[in-house]
Amino acid sequence: MTVTPLALTRPASVTDAFLRRLVARVPGSSGATWKLTEVYTGDVLVELPQSTPADIEQAFTTARAAQEKWAATPLKQRLEIFKRAHTLFVDNAPAVTDLIQVESGKNRRMAIEETCDPAMVMSHYLTRAAKLLAPTKRGGPVPFLTTSTEVRQPKGVVGIIAPWNFPFATGISDAVPALMAGNAVVLKPDNKTALSPLYGVELLEKAGLPKGLFQVVCGEGPDVGPTLIDQANYVMFTGSTATGRVIGERAGRNLIGCCLELGGKNPMIVLEDADLTETVQGAIFGAFGNTGQICMHIERIYLPESRYDEFKNAYVAKTKALDVRAAYDFGPDMGSLVSVDHMSRVKSHVDDAVAKGATVLCGGKPRPDLGPAFFEPTILEGVTKDMLCGVTETFGPVVALHKYRTVDEAVAFANDTEYGLNASIWGGNVDAARAVAARIESGNVNINDILATAYAAKGTPSGGVKNSGVGARHGDQGLLKYTDVKNVAVLKKQVMGPRGGQTYEKYVEGMLSGLKLMRRLRIR
Ligand code: NAD
Repeated sequence: MTVTPLALTRPASVTDAFLRRLVARVPGSSGATWKLTEVYTGDVLVELPQSTPADIEQAFTTARAAQEKWAATPLKQRLEIFKRAHTLFVDNAPAVTDLIQVESGKNRRMAIEETCDPAMVMSHYLTRAAKLLAPTKRGGPVPFLTTSTEVRQPKGVVGIIAPWNFPFATGISDAVPALMAGNAVVLKPDNKTALSPLYGVELLEKAGLPKGLFQVVCGEGPDVGPTLIDQANYVMFTGSTATGRVIGERAGRNLIGCCLELGGKNPMIVLEDADLTETVQGAIFGAFGNTGQICMHIERIYLPESRYDEFKNAYVAKTKALDVRAAYDFGPDMGSLVSVDHMSRVKSHVDDAVAKGATVLCGGKPRPDLGPAFFEPTILEGVTKDMLCGVTETFGPVVALHKYRTVDEAVAFANDTEYGLNASIWGGNVDAARAVAARIESGNVNINDILATAYAAKGTPSGGVKNSGVGARHGDQGLLKYTDVKNVAVLKKQVMGPRGGQTYEKYVEGMLSGLKLMRRLRIR
């Protein structure tokens, strides 16, 4: 690992006045604030207001009033705003990147990629929303005499609870289809990373989104969560599996829908015929991209015995050469973890593995010389299921190598987890890789890629199975989940029941032969 001394100047766009303007929209009637810090230095950037339950209720009241007008605004007009927003988001990507970097500590390459996500989601739903939201006429129970129309209506006010690892993407991208569908949004970002989503809301309003429609409230999850869920008509949550259960329970009690995008312990399977160079490069991003803080990143790599040493040697060499440091330019391959607390958690997973017999092939240590929350990219061998990192998500730059003898064994190892978010299969024969993919219990499987191909395919739903979540973002359901369906049915002429002196027996006979006829005619 290259070590470069810390010489850091905060990005010029991140001025005190700009930060104060951003946080001014967060209600905080008690006067309590949270010190939002620059991750690379630990310096306080701004005092973030903390919203009380009364503030949150008021945010919902304001949002609800704005939503009534918004839902009555023609869809074409609503979508025009997102066309303008798309341009603004792309044009302001460098400033968003600065905010994402100061608040999360990730390297600039990942931060600029994150800025692209809301624009991609807007592009997708700009072409799809009109079709999805148009009333759809379906056949009624009696051909020609009945119709049934599926009418989509906004839920009302959607509560979004977002994590710190992709604050701009999860805070804004998940709001876009909700807003397009005619809802208002109340967002609760993580305290650590509230700046970039606040700027996203500012850009949306600059594009013409009515004031009041998109509210942001801030606070610690257990303080804000209950009021937010109790006021919302639907909850979109992204975060850990443990918090997801809490959110799901409360939404269930309130009989409102929720989408839960949770954690993973994602496997990568390398098949015998995989290209070594590409697979190693993939595994570098898979384990260390975003400093290992991507829900779909890789924490377990399964290699055929015959290729284990070859892969291991190339992977360790490439990892040791990574440029890890704090910088607000595109140089570093990897940046910091999000906080000192999180770094201690990642360290505890590595220490636990080592104490129980795992071997550190490279990395394994915090790097306070690079910044308060830096941790080395770490490759482990000999990880077993009695170790913390053998079963639970580490969510840091830590990956374990494993050998397998047969493909059946690799599939069994990959599926031996309570999670099911993402998997990555690498092989020269794509049909063979597809056959393996079919056997993996996961909401996403990428062949010859780690995660980007699946996640960037905005037309296809992306979610988790098992303990990795309920529901999905993207695809048609990524927008339709924010709507209620109303079934408007019309009977043109009353025909049910015996008519004009007909006996009930005759009526039943006619009804049953009608059923057979309809099936033959394939009329539903
Ligand atoms: P977390 O569950 O601790 O927090 C997520 C959000 O929930 C934060 O805003 C937090 O303040 C809030 N929160 C915490 N407790 C709450 C409560 N009781 N009620 C309401 N809100 C509460 O998760 P995290 O550590 O911030 O994020 C990392 C996790 O997110 C990882 O497990 C990662 O895999 C997961 N993640 C999943 C996806 C996905 O799409 N599946 C995407 C990104 C992150």
